[in-house]
Amino acid sequence: MLIVMDHNATEEQVKAVQKAVEVMGLEAKPIPGSERTAIGVLGNQGYVDDATIRELPGVRECIHVSKPYKLVSRDFHPESTVVEAAGVRFGDGQRPVVIAGPCSIENEKQMLDAARQVKAAGGQVLRGGAFKPRTGPHSFQGLGVEGLKLLRQAGDAEGLPVITEVMRIDQLEAVCRHADILQIGARNMQNFDLLKEAGRSGFPVLLKRGMSATIEEFLAAAEYLLAEGNERVILCERGIRTFERATRNTLDLSVVPLIRQMSHLPIIVDPSHATGKRPLVPVMAKAALVAGAHGIMVEVHPEPEKALCDGAQSLSGEGFASLMGEVEGLLKYLGY
Ligand code: PEP
Ligand code: MN
Repeated sequence: MLIVMDHNATEEQVKAVQKAVEVMGLEAKPIPGSERTAIGVLGNQGYVDDATIRELPGVRECIHVSKPYKLVSRDFHPESTVVEAAGVRFGDGQRPVVIAGPCSIENEKQMLDAARQVKAAGGQVLRGGAFKPRTGPHSFQGLGVEGLKLLRQAGDAEGLPVITEVMRIDQLEAVCRHADILQIGARNMQNFDLLKEAGRSGFPVLLKRGMSATIEEFLAAAEYLLAEGNERVILCERGIRTFERATRNTLDLSVVPLIRQMSHLPIIVDPSHATGKRPLVPVMAKAALVAGAHGIMVEVHPEPEKALCDGAQSLSGEGFASLMGEVEGLLKYLGY
């Protein structure tokens, strides 16, 4: 529930309302905003009877928010959040961030080469998967902790912060030891226990949209992270499953402006998993930036034709450099 106070409500009246909320065993969260004084009510498991609150002096109205997400919504947090992660800033007013690197960490040379290419072209964060959620058990499953070490080594060699996926709670400790940003993948978007633990870790989290998740489900999943006190959450659209098989997924670009309206959290786009096709990646990466994405995440491999995972959608080092040249011009045009 949102309690909206009169414009001329006194500080005492606001305090009295907060107290009344607490007496009901609920949490009162002051909501900053220039146009109104509002108090968010959290902690209820169902409908809140607002009869006593409505009668208090200074209260203009009580708005019942029936969405499964509150902390991630603009209702409860009107100002846009800028997420700072290892010196990189994602969000409104910030130059969009480019995350790049291979789908999977394969060996030391591949990772060092990839890191060099990402850095040289102007990428700001290095990606690479050590724990891979593969569709079938016979596919390369990732190097595990050994891979985390190679990712860290390559990031350090080029001065790039690193992001990698965590699939299970028991991998969190190792991933937090080696990475700067945690990635929760599409397949785990609704792994609520993992979300809770990732929230408690205090690490910045990149949350990818589940392949069949509605926007409401996506935001409700992010709510689990914020409910643990972790506000450093970056959302990522990576394509959704539709009837269309010509592309790996269908890139739902309209979620970018929509989520920017609905939530204060930054949102980036992964055009690699969204399309599955290398020739489509650069154009959709640029489209994402035009749509207002706070960044992009692109798969880059030194030798895409030899990649152990997702080679068909990976850009080569040269392909990435060429995209970055275009991104540079586009960002200038967009005023960055
Ligand atoms: C990935 O980014 O490596 C990945 C597996 O993506 P998704 O979870 O979006 O499929
Ligand atoms: Mn991949």
